[in-house]
Amino acid sequence: MSNAFDFIIVGAGSAGCVLAGRLTQDPNVRVLLLEAGTAREPLASRVPAAFSTLFKTRHDWAHQTEPEPALGGRRLYIPRGKVLGGSSAMNAMIYMRGNPIDYDGWASGGADGWSYADVLPDFVRAEDQARGASDAHGAGGPLRVEDLICKNPLSAAFVAACEEVGLAHNDDFNSGIQDGAGFYQVTQKGGRRWSAANAYLFPALRRPNLSVARGVHATRVVLENGRARGVEYIDGGQRKIARADLEIVLAAGAIGSPQLLLLSGIGPADELARHGIPVVARLDGVGQNLQDHPFAGVAYHCKEPVSLLNAEGLSALLQYVFARRGPLTSNIAEAGGFVRSKDGLDAPDIQFHFAAAFYVDHGFVKPPGHGFSIGPTLVAPTSRGHIGLRSTDPTAPPVIVGNVLSQASEIAALVAGVRLARKIAAADAFVRFRGSELLPGDGARTDDELTAHIRATAELLYHPCGTCKMGKDELAVVDPELRVKGVAGLRVADASVMPVIPRGNTNAPTIMIAERLARWLAT
Ligand SMILES: Cc1cc2nc3c(=O)[nH]c(=O)nc-3n(C[C@H](O)[C@H](O)[C@H](O)COP(=O)(O)OP(=O)(O)OC[C@H]3O[C@@H](n4cnc5c(N)ncnc54)[C@H](O)[C@@H]3O)c2cc1C
Repeated sequence: MSNAFDFIIVGAGSAGCVLAGRLTQDPNVRVLLLEAGTAREPLASRVPAAFSTLFKTRHDWAHQTEPEPALGGRRLYIPRGKVLGGSSAMNAMIYMRGNPIDYDGWASGGADGWSYADVLPDFVRAEDQARGASDAHGAGGPLRVEDLICKNPLSAAFVAACEEVGLAHNDDFNSGIQDGAGFYQVTQKGGRRWSAANAYLFPALRRPNLSVARGVHATRVVLENGRARGVEYIDGGQRKIARADLEIVLAAGAIGSPQLLLLSGIGPADELARHGIPVVARLDGVGQNLQDHPFAGVAYHCKEPVSLLNAEGLSALLQYVFARRGPLTSNIAEAGGFVRSKDGLDAPDIQFHFAAAFYVDHGFVKPPGHGFSIGPTLVAPTSRGHIGLRSTDPTAPPVIVGNVLSQASEIAALVAGVRLARKIAAADAFVRFRGSELLPGDGARTDDELTAHIRATAELLYHPCGTCKMGKDELAVVDPELRVKGVAGLRVADASVMPVIPRGNTNAPTIMIAERLARWLAT
């Protein structure tokens, strides 16, 4: 490995892969990419329907929150990819940008230059849309976006049932209009996952100006006279330092990036003092403003043997191996929709994730037989959590306080979401399939009973963000050019810079953020 670099990027996840791939398009720019994960592309990452088998393996950081006060003291599991591609190598592949109103909100909240009109060209630039280019979509970009190859009949029933109960059909959630129900598009190419590593990093691996160090754990940013000069990391038990002539970009994700800033002496003074870390830059927002999308379980037994349980059979395996077709190409959450939980909202606050399978406790609990799940997900949460250090040991998992569903209005929105999910499941389109209700179950009918069900079972939908937010207020960690305030030569570009969580899944927005920074750094 060369030891002269212009840029060091920490984390080869969704954002880090974009930056490494884009920056090294210029042969004169030397980049070092540091990644804690060791694997290039585990088989369970490649095969779409297998992603949840990566949970709690060595490819997963497997974080968890502290006991959540509003959820009966339960700790919530937060999977995060530890592999090339990061979380995009183990996600559910739904391609979703969020609602235009989200980005307009970022801009009016102090993230100048991040309105929907500003960010749309970067979404488009990233995209290789199988349906072709249009005003809203790009073709020929690195990130392949396709329609599902194999649509489960239960997912089709869900889409039909939504229409029966009055939801509009939505054939493209990324057109600028989210409301309605339909099939999701996925980040896949020809039946295999198309992670940020597939899209941006793997094509760049042969470039002589790109060095990728796998299995190395970054421990802190090396700062000299208020300027970031390098990154310290552990490699095979040894501490090493790599230096950058130009800039260091943290792309370690919404949990890793604030942890690294804190370990480097950049953060709230009291948090640093608690751990005896000298303050290099006081930034009160580091680790604050944590947001994610909580969802409630609604699940039914299925009378016909058509669910994705069949993806586990021999015929599905043969179909996949020989033709890259069949149920193993499924992203599990094949269909969904966006609705407003009450009148007067200016955008949807509930997203449905429909799975043609049981999805109980992240798939760890497997009820017998065939089933289907409708996950009402709160996409405009108002609770805010925070991340802090557990100790100065950089390999110790940080303290994550979610404060999930701590607001009564959030529970009320999810209760409305569960009621609508039940209405959808009761529609004629499901008559052939609908067996008894597993969740919430017959015992949960009143608002109080549904609230108790939500508090007992709600989980997070894998979208942590906001912990190094961009903006201009006192909690902003980075400015709208993603520069860490008060520290020269250091930026953050990943899901942590989102000031407010978008309405929808967060992979495409993270890639958009990194595309923007890559464009700025290249000019
Ligand atoms: C199970 C699951 C399902 C999801 N489903 C969807 C979906 O269907 N659609 C969607 O849009 N989004 C989905 N998401 C969310 C989406 O994948 C993430 O929002 C996105 O990948 C975040 O990108 P990132 O670059 O911020 O972080 P990550 O992709 O998590 O990348 C961070 C990288 O930094 C590395 N790292 C961290 N700390 C260190 C350190 N100290 N030293 C070295 N390396 C380090 C990590 O190993 C990782 O590779 C899902 C996520 C998960 C986990």
